[in-house]
Amino acid sequence: MSPTSTPSTRPQLAHLSAQLDDLRARGTYFRLRVLEDEQASVCHYDGREVINLASNNYLGLCNHPKLREAAIAATEKYGVGSGAVRTIAGTMRIHMELEEKIAAFKGVEACVVFQSGFAANAGTVSSILGKEDFILSDELNHASIIDGARLSRAKIKVFRHKDVAHAEELLKEIQNEPGRKLVITDGVFSMDGDIGPVAQLCDLCDKYGAIMMVDDAHASGVLGRNGRGSVDHFGCTQRVDVQVGTLSKAIGALGGYVCGSRDLIDYLYHRARPFLFSTSHPPSVAATCIAAFDLLESEPERIERLWSNTRYFQEQLKIAGFDIGGKTTPASETPITPILIGDGRKTMDFSRALFEQGLMATGIAFPTVPEGKARIRCIMTSEHTRQQIDQALEILTTTAKRLEIL
Ligand code: PMP
Repeated sequence: MSPTSTPSTRPQLAHLSAQLDDLRARGTYFRLRVLEDEQASVCHYDGREVINLASNNYLGLCNHPKLREAAIAATEKYGVGSGAVRTIAGTMRIHMELEEKIAAFKGVEACVVFQSGFAANAGTVSSILGKEDFILSDELNHASIIDGARLSRAKIKVFRHKDVAHAEELLKEIQNEPGRKLVITDGVFSMDGDIGPVAQLCDLCDKYGAIMMVDDAHASGVLGRNGRGSVDHFGCTQRVDVQVGTLSKAIGALGGYVCGSRDLIDYLYHRARPFLFSTSHPPSVAATCIAAFDLLESEPERIERLWSNTRYFQEQLKIAGFDIGGKTTPASETPITPILIGDGRKTMDFSRALFEQGLMATGIAFPTVPEGKARIRCIMTSEHTRQQIDQALEILTTTAKRLEIL
């Protein structure tokens, strides 16, 4: 131990150690696996070569040569850091170019980029509503929406997953209240891979005068024309007031963004706390993202490959007898492919055994998913070859049989 490190026995934090012991006892404690090379369909975690079914690198852009070049060129031109928050001195020309690029891609008036998708959701929901207002949120919406809702101090009403009739019931109950109403759904749900009922929720918003917001973190680069997202997929661009996306998944870099009217974006420039109080992206990240949006337009075949890999992988899993949702959990409609196990400990043991066999497939247990619905979450990318997918299926099947999961 170095002389300055904090001893792990100090009583002030003993309650944290006790909670970790509890996780160990439940079998859901994890160690971080460390990637030793590039994020890719085959790579090295903890020194072991694995087929990677765990990343959100949907289109293989994390290490695309054109994106690397863009990052290097921007670093050479602008340096490594922006030096300040956007509103003080940290708005670089390249940040504005990225926002203009995304707004044009999405077919909206304007866009603001945040440091992460988490910051985009939490910063937006918390700043566009106040304590007199109401948020109607799908029960499986992402944690960043939940945290933003709590920070806004608005009254939170949770509707059953994708249950539009339930959302309407809740809206009816509050229709005479003076506060504003915001309806919010994920475009693609991150744990089950199902698609949100965007068009029907837009109908509700139109009927009740509510604000419509969609978090398209897992839909951007995946659904819609050239990966424009679920809002485009449903033809709802003009009916969704607030569209959130991430730059950290299909786009391959880091960040989040909000698209909408010029006034919405101006308002967020003035009021969204992560925008106001946290330093902007390094120029290399902004340049990388610009190059990634260019690629979505120029290489649409990546998205086609992503979908054909997804269809093949999911069909083969079903044939092998795995529960990939659709019974007690929603059926996946996208590259996010859960393999339902149920028990948390069994899931984590399965994930570890898969890793030993050369497959990186993350186990996800409570509290990330409900108790009893633990799963291995697999994500297809455009870069997996048929041979890699077949090998992954073979490892999944033989390991599941050995552990009496199949
Ligand atoms: N929304 C959803 C649905 C997500 O799955 C995630 C990422 N886990 C986020 C938002 C946050 O995005 P980011 O990783 O860019 O912070």
